[in-house]
Amino acid sequence: MIESSIVTLNGKIIDYAKGTPASVEFDFERVWRHIKKCPTGAIHFIHVHPQGLTKLSLKDVECILGFNMALGNYGTYWFSIITFDNSDLFNIKHTCTIYQCNNQKDFYEVSENPQISNDQLLFLKHLSYGKEIENANI
Ligand SMILES: [Zn+2]
Repeated sequence: MIESSIVTLNGKIIDYAKGTPASVEFDFERVWRHIKKCPTGAIHFIHVHPQGLTKLSLKDVECILGFNMALGNYGTYWFSIITFDNSDLFNIKHTCTIYQCNNQKDFYEVSENPQISNDQLLFLKHLSYGKEIENANI
């Protein structure tokens, strides 16, 4: 299993990444290019943790504080952690921990959030649990 991420703007994926077993990065420059074109959209940073690790890591907290500074007056955005219940590629049963973040230093866990679609969950599941087909000549 490796960590993976997507970033959505108004529900559409604008960035995705595969990380390592213990971390994943967001491409903030890429996200920022989209945000500049759509300054009032709902931004959602979503990433997959290993099973059982539903809470923010220290790195996640640093990440949120960095986004808060970078996003300045943008307003509210969401930062979510997904943990899947098993490694079956087509089973998207999961737990989602959602943090609502405001433009300054504030962030707190919430129960309501912008929707993560089943297709997006399936995509994250494959990024984190799918095996790469090496040397594929398709
Ligand atoms: Zn994390």
